[in-house]
Amino acid sequence: FSSVPIMGIPFAQTTRVQFVNHLQNRIDAHQNTFVITANPEIVMYAGRNPAYHTTLLSADYISADGIGIVKAAQALDTPLPERITGYDIFTDLLRWAETNQKKVYFLGAKPAVITALAAKVAHDFPHIQVVGAQDGYYQDETAITTAIANHQPDLIFVATGFPKQEQFIAEHRHLADGLWMGVGGSFDVFVG
Ligand code: UDP
Repeated sequence: FSSVPIMGIPFAQTTRVQFVNHLQNRIDAHQNTFVITANPEIVMYAGRNPAYHTTLLSADYISADGIGIVKAAQALDTPLPERITGYDIFTDLLRWAETNQKKVYFLGAKPAVITALAAKVAHDFPHIQVVGAQDGYYQDETAITTAIANHQPDLIFVATGFPKQEQFIAEHRHLADGLWMGVGGSFDVFVG
């Protein structure tokens, strides 16, 4: 996709359907992929934090997770087709992972939430291979990184909030050639 820069962040100029299709092709091809869905809060934070800005620029794709981003793009005469939220991509990819029996690792949220998420995924998407479901309040990440390296998940969803989730992904994405994505509060929303 071509990209639209907003406050120094290049946003992918794509629709949700195009974007998700593209990500699916990359997962099937075992291409290492880092996706960020950036809302205005993230863009502002990156403006104040050069290290986080660098982390954002290391992602393969940044989608516009906020109507404010879409409006800014329009005002700059470089429109983005639509808002694409982390939760949209998360649920689109879960449905696809079910159909295609993909391996998924879930990291983040409170212990009760991740337990409920694992149960809901097993019930709603029985063909997804859940290779790990770990809460986001860990002390030592060795068990997590070892599990990811051993299982080689197709998808790794990290829901520990920004900037933590993006920093974790940037540091560890070399461990598996799958899709790595920070999804913020999506696990909480998913379990309701
Ligand atoms: N969280 C976590 N570990 C932490 C801090 C937060 O797993 O050390 C989880 C928290 O339980 C919640 C998510 O990260 O599920 C953050 O959600 P939020 O909507 O605040 O995401 P943000 O918009 O900050 O990315």
